[in-house]
Amino acid sequence: MAPPLVIIAAAFGAATAAFLPRLAYRLAVGFADPTRLSCANCARPFPQGFPGWVRAGAACSCSGGYASALLGGGTVAAVLAIAVGPVPELPFYLLAAVPGLLLAMIDRRCLRLPDPLVGTLAVVVAVPLAILRPERIGLALVAAVAVLTTYTLLAFLGGLGLGDVKLAAVLALILGFAGWPAVVVGVLAAHLINGPIAVFRLLTGRRGPIAFGPALLAGALAGLALQQP
Ligand SMILES: [Zn+2]
Repeated sequence: MAPPLVIIAAAFGAATAAFLPRLAYRLAVGFADPTRLSCANCARPFPQGFPGWVRAGAACSCSGGYASALLGGGTVAAVLAIAVGPVPELPFYLLAAVPGLLLAMIDRRCLRLPDPLVGTLAVVVAVPLAILRPERIGLALVAAVAVLTTYTLLAFLGGLGLGDVKLAAVLALILGFAGWPAVVVGVLAAHLINGPIAVFRLLTGRRGPIAFGPALLAGALAGLALQQP
């Protein structure tokens, strides 16, 4: 992998992630709750419309802590570039990482994976992949339906939210375009990542549900490394 490509990818990831703290802050609300209209810390209302949503840096001028978003975005994009290599799919994976990262940030805060964001993730990457790899559309659909069916059953047994089910199906669709090894590793890796987190939380006495979205997304990232030519 050429270092310049990794650097360009990391710069793109960090630059786009700079806009995520405000979005994540305003969108991380309970189901059926309206999006946040003001900062809970300093009570300053967010501007109306576009300027209220699009802001590089911290969620509010009173708060810091956006370095982790920049670092997260840059790291995810660099890992993607290294794992996948200079393939035509890479720009679309990098684009998909933006809603992916936002979903992880929101899920960690309020255990929700809003449908419009999961839909955006599906569209920005599955449509170009279907054009680039039409011969894998069947495989991708089979992978998505298999994961959708299995995870819907798991959701009925408890422990999985319907948001997790929908995100897992979208990620299986994306991984399907990379081939079966990517699907298998992507799905298994999500559980391998989540398992130790669950055990650690149990051991440290923290109870309650765990956000599964970040593990699903990280698992998909691992799966994409097994891209089949
Ligand atoms: Zn504030």
